[in-house]
Amino acid sequence: MERVYNFSAGPTGLPLEVLEKAQKELVVYGASGMSVMEMSHRSKMYEEIYSGAECLIRELMAIPENYKVLFLQGGASTQFAMVPLNLFKNKKADYVVTGQFAKKAMQEAKKFGTVNIVASSEDKTYNYIPELDPSKFDKDADYFHITLNNTIFGTRYRKLPNTGSVPLVTDMSSNILSEVSETTDVSKYGLIYAGAQKNIGPAGVTLVIIRDDLITEPLDFCPTMLSYKVQAENGSMYNTPPTYGIYIAKLVFEWLKGLGGVSAIQKINEEKAAMLYDYLDNSNLFKATVTGDARSIMNVTFVTGNPDLDKKFVKEAESNGIVNIKGHRSVGGMRASIYNPMPLGGIKALVSFMKKFEVENK
Ligand SMILES: *Cc1c(COP(=O)(O)O)cnc(C)c1O
Repeated sequence: MERVYNFSAGPTGLPLEVLEKAQKELVVYGASGMSVMEMSHRSKMYEEIYSGAECLIRELMAIPENYKVLFLQGGASTQFAMVPLNLFKNKKADYVVTGQFAKKAMQEAKKFGTVNIVASSEDKTYNYIPELDPSKFDKDADYFHITLNNTIFGTRYRKLPNTGSVPLVTDMSSNILSEVSETTDVSKYGLIYAGAQKNIGPAGVTLVIIRDDLITEPLDFCPTMLSYKVQAENGSMYNTPPTYGIYIAKLVFEWLKGLGGVSAIQKINEEKAAMLYDYLDNSNLFKATVTGDARSIMNVTFVTGNPDLDKKFVKEAESNGIVNIKGHRSVGGMRASIYNPMPLGGIKALVSFMKKFEVENK
């Protein structure tokens, strides 16, 4: 069977070049005589893979020297707990609730201290990014948490709040490595985390980028594995890291670097998103659920306004090689997740199928 265009929110498509390279190296990696999956994480060969992955992500994101890069497990959802467990000193934090993941992060932090909800967009099914009123920021907060791109609802921040000396923490799971902008400037943050399965590689790896001064003793009941200090002191190898996932991430980073880096993929991503939104804005059948500059360039949500027609669209799309385009149950309709590996050809195929569907279902 031919490969399909996979619009899944995550895990999702990987670049074909990466899969083919991994396939070539699957059984015997270089001069090791074994698969990467079979290697000791303490071996010299694997250390090179690990440090290669770290160097590449540092280069791609221009990560300053005073930040550590960790490759952990447990997904972004484990970070919802690790952040408060490690950063709580006054046991207070500010959260902006812009979606389901943001809310989950906030609820997790609440288990360990006091949470101040600075703003929420729950009143309109999270279809916008709320204006933030600095008078609502807590000056004694240990950190200020935002979800930079809201995967389920298709919104993203375009500017960052000025939190002064309170470190900004972000969940960048669904738009890391997608653009070079103020909002992806590492130096603006105290801590960035991202589950790998959207723009980095396979599920099972979680990237954490943390400023050195925030690596301190966690709350005293914090499990060892959830301590940034322990993880940083051990180079993410306190225990066995997700070795194969990190290897694939390295191949993805090499692929991205080969394309010209993040600014090069940004141009493609913006072109992809513009093509899709332009069509949606001019369609008589489909309508984007997010308007204005909060529109995500990674997750594009849209509806026909008729749930039965939505269902028909999703089904017919699938038989045309356009898969995983069903929206999240909380929004309904459709969602096209168009992460870095989705080629422009995938958007062209989607738009031309939508045009055809529009004509047939007038
Ligand atoms: C996918 C996603 C998550 C959940 O990630 P897991 O790795 O499954 O825990 C959290 N936040 C955002 C923004 C996401 O897109």
